[in-house]
Amino acid sequence: MTITISNLKKTYDNGHQALKDISIDIADGDLVCLLGPSGCGKSTTLNLIAGLLDPTGGDISIDGESVIHRHPKDRNIGMVFQNYALYPHMTVLENVTFPLRVGAHRKSRAEAEAIAKQYMAVTNIEDLADKKPNDISGGQQQRVAITRAMVQKPKMLLLDEPLSNLDARLRLRIRAEIRRLVKEMHITTIFVTHDQEEALSISDRIVLMNEGVVQQYDVPQQLYLDPANLFVATFMGNPIINIIDMAYNPDSKMLTSPAFDIPLAALDASRFRNPAAGGRLNRESYQVGIRPEHFLVDASEPGIDAAQGSLVGGGAALGGARRAVFEARIESVEMIGRYSVLHFDVDGVHARSIVDARAAIRAGQLVPFNIDYPNIYLFQHDGTRVY
Ligand code: ADP
Repeated sequence: MTITISNLKKTYDNGHQALKDISIDIADGDLVCLLGPSGCGKSTTLNLIAGLLDPTGGDISIDGESVIHRHPKDRNIGMVFQNYALYPHMTVLENVTFPLRVGAHRKSRAEAEAIAKQYMAVTNIEDLADKKPNDISGGQQQRVAITRAMVQKPKMLLLDEPLSNLDARLRLRIRAEIRRLVKEMHITTIFVTHDQEEALSISDRIVLMNEGVVQQYDVPQQLYLDPANLFVATFMGNPIINIIDMAYNPDSKMLTSPAFDIPLAALDASRFRNPAAGGRLNRESYQVGIRPEHFLVDASEPGIDAAQGSLVGGGAALGGARRAVFEARIESVEMIGRYSVLHFDVDGVHARSIVDARAAIRAGQLVPFNIDYPNIYLFQHDGTRVY
């Protein structure tokens, strides 16, 4: 099923404008995440699609037909919420068959159980059929809730932070299972989360929202590699991108800061957002975005153990002949598994770089850095990306 959201607006009764003007096209069978900070309008969007709220303006169509005047029950949508209220006095099998036993399409017990068991085989909960919800784990309860939504053969599945009550390890497993299930059953799915890692791992496409506005709607890797604006660049990525204010000097064609300069000639001309500008910059200052992996420890400098300080990313390409761009005193080294995060100060701004966890770099050490120039980003002060 395709879903088309056009110019959707929602202002709550208290005057709060939760959705400003949202347009999203979701392709048949896609798994799309609504991602963004708390309060950005994710749940509002989901509830409007489900029909639990009325929009202030705009339209929602499913397979080309407007549904905004349809009752939630007639939208053919399955929903799973954060608190996936299973009926505690019913067994798992009774919980799953329940939606088939009520309403207009009421089925006999035998018929309903036959259907339920087919789905329970897919979600791997057949063995739990006779258990009560309180006697199974959180992850199993979540699978029961999803199975219960699926037996109704919804055209679309809406999941609102369905994993937020689960522990970290279980979240990883269940989210992979959800993806497998909805793909196998070819159900168009919208999944709300505020967790970028969850969105990146599960989605075909991500809608990144902020303050009721879609900031970027794209495939996961593009949000990271090709952010539409400063908000997207800052939201996506862990550790977060470094943002440094730099002045532009049109005479020397350099972006300058007290810590280091960036020659415009070192950038990749094809990556300027406005080709007409021909790689020229016409403002006095920019916010320069440098991902932690693009601050490269210069392993060619004396005192840095090249073997152990093997770098993440294109370090080798920049090592060797060229001198380091700047030096920084490392404030702390944070281990995050395979990588370590180096924390240091650049011109009064807290900056981060990532290196291989085996790098022999300690707090207090003065470390020479290079910058992977072509991979930086330039933003105007209003957040518009120019490079
Ligand atoms: P998210 O799901 O992204 O956290 P929501 O869609 O729940 O965000 O909320 C978007 C904004 O609308 C928030 O600022 C929230 O406080 C506000 N909001 C949500 N529900 C209501 C309501 N019933 N009345 C007034 N404001 C609301």
